[in-house]
Amino acid sequence: MLRGADFQTGRLPYTGLVATSPLDDSIVTDSASAATAFATGVRVRYTALSMDAAGNRLPTALQAAEQLSKSTGLITTANFWDATPAAFAAHAPTRYETDLIVDQMLESGTEIIAGGGLARFGSEGRPTIDQVAGAAGYALARTAAELAAVKGDRVLAVFDTQPQEIDFPEVRLPVLTRWALDRLSPDPEGFFLVVEQEGTDGASHANHTQKFIDSMISFDEAVGIALDFAAARNDVLLIVAADHECGGLQIHREKGSEMELVWATKAHTGEAVPVFAYGPGAEQFVGFMNGEDLGRKLIGLVR
Ligand SMILES: [Zn+2]
Repeated sequence: MLRGADFQTGRLPYTGLVATSPLDDSIVTDSASAATAFATGVRVRYTALSMDAAGNRLPTALQAAEQLSKSTGLITTANFWDATPAAFAAHAPTRYETDLIVDQMLESGTEIIAGGGLARFGSEGRPTIDQVAGAAGYALARTAAELAAVKGDRVLAVFDTQPQEIDFPEVRLPVLTRWALDRLSPDPEGFFLVVEQEGTDGASHANHTQKFIDSMISFDEAVGIALDFAAARNDVLLIVAADHECGGLQIHREKGSEMELVWATKAHTGEAVPVFAYGPGAEQFVGFMNGEDLGRKLIGLVR
């Protein structure tokens, strides 16, 4: 049975707590406003994507990295245009403007984009994924074999969307993480990479305990890969965070009975979430902060 410090996150020396409230009456957020806070250092309204209430595009940490000629990447087990990766490379009044968001992500200069969503393309009059990738100057990978063989400066890796956004069976998140680090890290200007395990959210929405546990294990493996990479050199900042809580999962055990995992809700909660950090600048990510504070620190360190 794994306990707190047995997880890879137990190896990250600096820890803090993050409140995730959006710019609304409720303290319960969605991924778009929560990820926008991380990506831009600004608190926005529920479902807004790196855009303020006046319609201004908010510059993101990934865009700051691109301007400094660093290589960048966005990896998720959700559809590749889902709110968390999208907040780093696109701007929209709401997260639901998918066509606009896909176009912006592919115009963002991001060297690696990976996630689900294959079925969206080549249907309902939309161009095929080959056409979309080709027009934007991306090499395309749809399988583990294609991913291993793909060449080119920019890669779009798209797989079949998974129920509850758990790992792609053929290419799990730890594999994608290793692949992305190998591709981005040779850049002498540096790199900026966002890796997201969405199954922890998707399985929690479904109150599916086993898929949640599997997704946490996958996430922990990915953290271990990133941390081993960072520990082998002295110039990598690794931040491990959640952009919000979902499901309000509690671990119970009445005296004399078995341990029980009990879900409080199928929605997000207003719980604060932990942040863990390792490497240069990691000491900034301690104590209690808001999501936008984390974002401001992140952008400051990229610049
Ligand atoms: Zn969610």
